Amino acid sequence: MRHRPGLRVLVVGGGVAALEAVLTLRELVDSRLEITLLSPNPRFEYAPLSVAEPFDLGTAHRFELREILRDRGVDTIVDALEVVDAPNREVRTTGGLAIPYGALLVAIGAHRRSALPGAITFSGSRATSDIRRLLRDAAAGTVERLVFAVPAGVTWSLPVYELALMTSAHLAEHELPVEVALVTPEPRPVDAFGAQPSAAVEEMLGLRGIPFHSAAPVRVEPGRLIVENGEPIPADAVVALPKLVAPEISGLPRDELGFLPVDEHGRVRDLAGVYAAGDVTSFPLKQGGIATQQADAAAEAIAADLGEHVHPAPFRPVLRGLLLTGRAPRYLRAEVLRGRATRSTAEEEAIWWPPAKIAGRRLGPFLALQGVPGGPPPDAVALELDASDDPDEDELSDLPG
Ligand SMILES: Cc1cc2nc3c(=O)[nH]c(=O)nc-3n(C[C@H](O)[C@H](O)[C@H](O)COP(=O)(O)OP(=O)(O)OC[C@H]3O[C@@H](n4cnc5c(N)ncnc54)[C@H](O)[C@@H]3O)c2cc1C
Repeated sequence: MRHRPGLRVLVVGGGVAALEAVLTLRELVDSRLEITLLSPNPRFEYAPLSVAEPFDLGTAHRFELREILRDRGVDTIVDALEVVDAPNREVRTTGGLAIPYGALLVAIGAHRRSALPGAITFSGSRATSDIRRLLRDAAAGTVERLVFAVPAGVTWSLPVYELALMTSAHLAEHELPVEVALVTPEPRPVDAFGAQPSAAVEEMLGLRGIPFHSAAPVRVEPGRLIVENGEPIPADAVVALPKLVAPEISGLPRDELGFLPVDEHGRVRDLAGVYAAGDVTSFPLKQGGIATQQADAAAEAIAADLGEHVHPAPFRPVLRGLLLTGRAPRYLRAEVLRGRATRSTAEEEAIWWPPAKIAGRRLGPFLALQGVPGGPPPDAVALELDASDDPDEDELSDLPG
């Protein structure tokens, strides 16, 4: 079957980067230009609040893509990309469609795979029941030492900190004498954010009595976690993040890890008319806010390349993380320059707007309109840590961006 031709921007994926990209494109390009979204999952799944589900402090949200994009003039096709035929500006899908395009934006994310043998893998809502079971085991006294671990190669570690902190708050509230520890190859807590956020999180872990072990976890054995170059860490159960594995699409280039190499405007190397954004790209930090910034850069480049009066801004990564702790949340922010965090800050008050878990310029306000809460769970209580550092004026300029 051949899909209807015409000058079309085809956005492949139905996640964070894809949604931000179609919102940006719709704003920038002529309304006569066709925008089509191709995704095997008819739903957009907003995963970040899944970390709060086991504690009844929040829920992951799901939306029908067709429904939320209906009045944006975006056509949605439920199918999966299989082949990119860039010379002929056409893609083929697993369902047998051939779809021509004027510009193609690949935003298909990455596969999440278990990376620590013997551990419970936390990839989102699917693991909610596992964490709830651990909390019940803790209450029954059959689990006394819980370890939260970041496997080597995982670059977005915040969910593990959130799970450890929320678990410790839950255990304290229920007066359960269970030890919680954190194991990660990072040299210091939340290393990607730089000095100040790292110090703030280190202090918080200390106040909660959560030991921080800087070590790469290897495997779980009965009663302990084996780490690289270190003593085993006592553990009755271990919860770990998944590693991200690059998807393979025929016709697209791959870097040494399998991810898609792009320039700072999201253009895929050596393939005219093909762009990419989000976890699928070679950029090492796989994070939702970063995915939206890449999507903005790629959407602007597409608009400019199609002849719109747009000066495409390059991707300049800013890391924003809302850390849920079971008590007072923290807003962490850093600019990433040549792989290093600069202008880092950690605040108790929101420093971007809406103060969402995934800070996307258009996605944040769009999801707020769909009812996704813009901030921390409502019953997060301000406790511990002094709010001793006033947000400086530059950081406040992040509000409304
Ligand atoms: C538990 C958890 C908590 C997180 N918390 C945060 C947070 O607080 N803040 C933050 O910024 N980030 C967070 N992240 C990371 C964030 O979710 C990802 O970085 C982000 O979703 C990446 O966006 P993406 O669009 O590249 O990929 P995804 O959002 O994964 O979307 C990929 C899309 O592509 C579709 N797709 C896959 N294969 C194909 C194909 N062949 N053809 C067509 N479509 C395809 C999928 O169905 C999906 O719709 C969290 C992640 C997890 C797992």
